[in-house]
Amino acid sequence: MYIAALDIGGTKTIAAVLDEKGVILAQENFSSVTANHETHLELCVQAMKNLMQRMDLMAEDFIGLGVSLPGIVNNESGVLIYAPYANWENVAVAEFFRTNIGISKVRCENDVNACAIGEQRFGLGRNYTDFIWMTVSTGVGGAVVEGSQLVRGGHGFAGELGHLKVEYKTPAHCPCGQYGCLEAHGSGTALIRETRKRKLESPAFAKALDEMGLKPDGVGCATLAKAGNTDALEIMDQIGTYLGRGISYCINILDIQAIVIGGGVAASLDLLLPSIRASVQQNAFKRMQDIDIIKTPLGYEAALLGAASLVLEK
Ligand SMILES: [Zn+2]
Repeated sequence: MYIAALDIGGTKTIAAVLDEKGVILAQENFSSVTANHETHLELCVQAMKNLMQRMDLMAEDFIGLGVSLPGIVNNESGVLIYAPYANWENVAVAEFFRTNIGISKVRCENDVNACAIGEQRFGLGRNYTDFIWMTVSTGVGGAVVEGSQLVRGGHGFAGELGHLKVEYKTPAHCPCGQYGCLEAHGSGTALIRETRKRKLESPAFAKALDEMGLKPDGVGCATLAKAGNTDALEIMDQIGTYLGRGISYCINILDIQAIVIGGGVAASLDLLLPSIRASVQQNAFKRMQDIDIIKTPLGYEAALLGAASLVLEK
């Protein structure tokens, strides 16, 4: 039997056919059309049908279709309640795919929750009963697994780690409307903002970026930090310190065994780790602070593998 999976992201979408072990057998990547959901869901149907035709498969050959969505999702009804990046509201995603692709079992989940479920089945999550999956990218998102179960919370929003407050003295504005959130201080967006600011403040840093042909962004900063540039290392330390504060709250409340980090900034985890560790030592309860802080092995396909694992869930 095969698994169909769709990872619908804010900018890119992946459609794929996988086997039950999570091996991707065929995939199609395309840009997400955010202007209207009808057009984009139609593109997803077309991509799935192309893959099925290419592999000579019928709807009956699939255990199900799993869909990862960037927003608030009712995982029981398969309705996308709200997607902030595109302003989509109340889209009956599962029903649409069931009708138009013909696969009867369709499961939908929020993308970060899907990553945590995928990590549990196909990644490092197999080693832990209690862990947090954290996306550090443009924003910061999280999903909580306790006692091997995904925690959804009273309103379905559990794991909003991006809006833990980590800075009170000089709080930056967060897209959520509040100030001092982890998303405003420990995200990829914060890394870019601090790198640009430092470029204006430090002629030596500006010169170092120019000399290596680097842009004042996350990659530029990480590249200079790797080369030992003091300014770049300071910025990385700052981002790591904030991440460590957020992680410390999670440790104290949940007594987790690990944090698994994904998203673009995870590529620089080795540069952030010393300051994350120092911050955790300073802020988390002593007996609980010795946790694993690791990068997901699932990489760019984390949400896709998560989508696939949804249909394998009991
Ligand atoms: Zn916020």
